[in-house]
Amino acid sequence: MRNGSDVIVVGAGIVGSSAAYHLAKAGVKVTLVEQTHPAGGPSGKSSALLHAFYLLPELSQLSIRGREILVSLPEIAGEGSFVTEIGMMWVCGNDNEASWTAAAERIRGEGARMETLSPQAFGDAAPGFTLDNVALALWEPEFGYADAFGATNAIARAARANGATILQNTAVESLQRQGDRITGVTLANGTVLEADTVVLAAGPWTRRLLATIGLDLPLHVERHPMAVLDAAGRARKVMPFAWCDDISCNYARPDNDGVILAGTWAGGGTGLRHEHAGRPRLVEDPDNYMEGVEEAESVEILETFATRVPAMAELGIRPGYAGLYDMSPDDLPVIGAMPGVESLVVSAGSSGHGFKTGPAVGEAIAKLVTEGAQPILTPFLPSRFKAA
Ligand SMILES: Cc1cc2nc3c(=O)[nH]c(=O)nc-3n(C[C@H](O)[C@H](O)[C@H](O)COP(=O)(O)OP(=O)(O)OC[C@H]3O[C@@H](n4cnc5c(N)ncnc54)[C@H](O)[C@@H]3O)c2cc1C
Repeated sequence: MRNGSDVIVVGAGIVGSSAAYHLAKAGVKVTLVEQTHPAGGPSGKSSALLHAFYLLPELSQLSIRGREILVSLPEIAGEGSFVTEIGMMWVCGNDNEASWTAAAERIRGEGARMETLSPQAFGDAAPGFTLDNVALALWEPEFGYADAFGATNAIARAARANGATILQNTAVESLQRQGDRITGVTLANGTVLEADTVVLAAGPWTRRLLATIGLDLPLHVERHPMAVLDAAGRARKVMPFAWCDDISCNYARPDNDGVILAGTWAGGGTGLRHEHAGRPRLVEDPDNYMEGVEEAESVEILETFATRVPAMAELGIRPGYAGLYDMSPDDLPVIGAMPGVESLVVSAGSSGHGFKTGPAVGEAIAKLVTEGAQPILTPFLPSRFKAA
């Protein structure tokens, strides 16, 4: 093959890096092309909360497998560890109690530890948190959070160690097709790279690249601000676990013991978006958005914690930062063969909750390329959208 690979992966976020690693490990000649560096996009800004709790079984299964891969990075990549197992705590109100209880039961059957806590038991486990409107809490002791930047780069290095070529600071300008078939990519410097298969794992830049071969998916991009709270030496006292509150619509976690990261929650991370969540902060151009966070935005986030975790109101506000969510219409990721052309696999629309599943999605994509359809990806097929 001229100037080519078996597979080109576009984008070295968590999914592209993992896909390249698993393809290389399977003996496939793979080139990973990244316009900046691994985790240079949303993956590097991810809060990277890890949990198995999802209302959709396939997301739970991908999360459980994603955690296994992250935890095994010391063996896979010879470096790490990138997972902090401080546990993940959820609370919900009456409206979700039945569905969450059933999901917790299912997830226990899938092999993850998941404790169902009464409001009183939650209060005992979470001193400093109030019980207002809590009908049920779920506790996932094996989960917590990951170092998203470190883990993504470690997986990319493992891909290279297994034979993958990584082109950093190299932008793909366009996809290439001949008739019904994808044939490769053209780089911004004009170089054409040929491949039998292209995996498009370009997050918020997906539509731009699909447009170069006349295809589209109904994706959009949202700006997601994070508040960073100064909590030197007491971050883990105030916020002892990774946290998600489906009542006050917020989430948080400590970062080591120095700061607490906090954001607002639209519900999509369970696999079901809150009806009232709306579609705020649309971003037209992923290369041009406000990466800083105004203090007023941080205050707005902090206010959602005021009744649940009063101690957070005493913390100082450091400069925050904003990342991009690449959103699908149903908040579920879009993964699989792209309709309209052969040999193009797309992974996009991770909708703000795709870090924890990313290592497993990359693995499933590698199997999709080498072995054929993967049942675990069925709910996420791009063909579910009429516009595809
Ligand atoms: C602030 C924030 C907090 C989050 N918190 C969580 C969380 O707690 N838990 C969780 O599970 N998820 C979370 N997420 C979501 C999660 O980070 C993403 O779903 C996930 O990282 C997406 O990974 P990806 O590999 O699909 O894509 P991306 O990380 O978007 O990677 C795409 C890559 O493609 C590259 N690229 C794009 N165009 C080109 C081109 N033309 N040529 C070459 N390269 C290109 C980009 O530079 C980028 O590196 C959060 C996201 C943000 C922004």
